[in-house]
Parts: sequence; structure tokens; C-alpha cells
Amino acid sequence: MTENQNPPGKLPAPAAPAFELLPRDLSAYRQGNVGIDYVHRFESGRPGPHVLINALTHGNEFCGMVAAAHLLDTGVRPLIGTLTVSFANVAAYETFDPAQPFESRQLLHNLNRIWSSEWLDGPEDSPELRRARELRPVVAAADHLLDIHSTSQDVEPFWVYPAFARNSEAALAIGRPAVHLVMPGGLGSGTPVIQHGHFGEASGRGAGMVVECGQHFLRASADVAIDVTRRFLAHFGLLGHDPAWAAPESARCFELLQTVVIKTPDFRFVRPCIGFEVFAQGELIATDGPDEIRAPCDDCTILMPARATIVGREGVYLSRPLR
Ligand SMILES: [Zn+2]
Repeated sequence: MTENQNPPGKLPAPAAPAFELLPRDLSAYRQGNVGIDYVHRFESGRPGPHVLINALTHGNEFCGMVAAAHLLDTGVRPLIGTLTVSFANVAAYETFDPAQPFESRQLLHNLNRIWSSEWLDGPEDSPELRRARELRPVVAAADHLLDIHSTSQDVEPFWVYPAFARNSEAALAIGRPAVHLVMPGGLGSGTPVIQHGHFGEASGRGAGMVVECGQHFLRASADVAIDVTRRFLAHFGLLGHDPAWAAPESARCFELLQTVVIKTPDFRFVRPCIGFEVFAQGELIATDGPDEIRAPCDDCTILMPARATIVGREGVYLSRPLR
């Protein structure tokens, strides 16, 4: 009864998620110390880089909230340089409804696609555009940026970053997660915060990386987020290294070839996908109305397949393994 399980126009109904993580009241973190809500900055008084740890770019990705709150709750202070901790889209986060747990990703705009001057300086308005405009100087002030995310499906954690040596060197040195999704041509479906300003320039001065920590609502994703955040800060000298950290696993790198954006309500995969499925060159991956999405290379590996058909949003990322 495959047809009934996956009729045209519908993606397979995902299993009901387990909510090991749920939102907590963030009102105690609203009043920051830089004049922008939910932004907290700590100066060491010593020379060193300015590192920004950013959570909740997407409102239902709770692991970053746990990691950012962990830093604040434990009274983190940088050994050198400056640390800024931000909760980005608290407005969307506060709309979380367990009956519709994927809806609170954003209110109107995807906060991680509007970091171009075209959007930020443009005439449109939305909660996300207002927040991005508020956060713009916070991002611009940072030398290094860790933007913490999670995935709708339960897949292994991975980095996402523009294909600059400064990013890959940092990710390799940090060592966890072991999987890298490298973007030679950017994301292709908008401008994420890790491509804003100097982070998007080949001559930029610092690392700007997303970490996808696992499934949105799993406790393990929050554990990854806390661990990667501490390792990121230690890499840049703001925290000490933990002697208990194991040596990094060998990295597996994928190069983003294409970001497929959903064009019609009939977008569907040829089989249920959660991410990291591999397709041979020319093999059909999905159809979107009259369009066929076929693997452009051998060992084409897909990432972040859409769990629901929403026209205008990303359907799937097509990549090829680099090593
Ligand atoms: Zn996200």
C-alpha cells in the first residue's frame, strides 16, 4: 500500500517526535548587557578573539538554547578576548506547540536566509527581519561565529560552512562532529548568518560555522551542542581544553552541489529519506510536479530532506563525498 502511505503531494508521515527537550522560560535572559534583548557579552580584559555563540536561529531547535543557557547558568567567563552569547529568534521559540512542533521554526521569514544587504536594507518587514537588523551589529562585531542548529530527522551531527580554509581548519581541529558539509558556492537558497559580512568573504577574518547537533527534540542533541560549544570556545582560547576530550575521529566531508527548493505541492521523494541516503549518478531522488530531481554524480549523498512539502522552502541538499 505504498501509494496510500505516500500519495502524490504528500511526504511520508513522520513518526510523532519524542520530546526529550522542551522550551523553558527564557525571560531571565531577556535583559542582556549590550542594549539588545537576549544578547550577553563578557569581556576578559585580555587580548583575544571575539567569539559569538548563537542559539535559536530557528525557534524549534532547542539544543542551542540549552547550550547558550548552560554558558550563562554556569557563569562562563572567557580567559581571553570576548564572548557573546545570543538567543536569536525567541519570538518564534515562544510559539512552540507540541501538537505542531515544526511550526515554530520561524514566524514569517527564515531567520537564516535573510542576512544579505538586499534583505536587511530592503523595505520588507517581519519579526525575523527586525531581529536580524537588531542582531546585525552583534554578528558584525564577532571574529568567530558558532550558529547552533538541529535537524528534523534523527541523523548524526554535522558541520555546515562556506568552503574557506579558515572554517575547515577550525572544524577539523575541533574534531566533533566528524561530518562536514562544505559549501563552495554558498547555501544557494538565501544568505545564512554564516555568510553575512566578513564571514561570507574569502578574505574574511574568522570562522563562521553552523553545527547541526541532531534531532530537534532529543536530549542527545543538547549534549552535542554543549560539547561542541565548549570545544569551539576552547579552540579559540576562550576556555581551557578538557583533558577528557578524545582525539577527533577522522572527518567525512561532503561538498554541497545543489540546494533544491520545493516548487510545487506535489514534491515527493521516491522513497522515505531522513538524510545521508546515497544515490548513483542519474538516479531519481524526488519529483516536483513535472520536474525530476536526479543525482548529479555518483555517491550523491542527500542531506536535510524536507519532512513536509512547503513550496518555497528547501526540499533537499545534494552533495558529493570529498574524502
Ligand atoms: Zn536550523
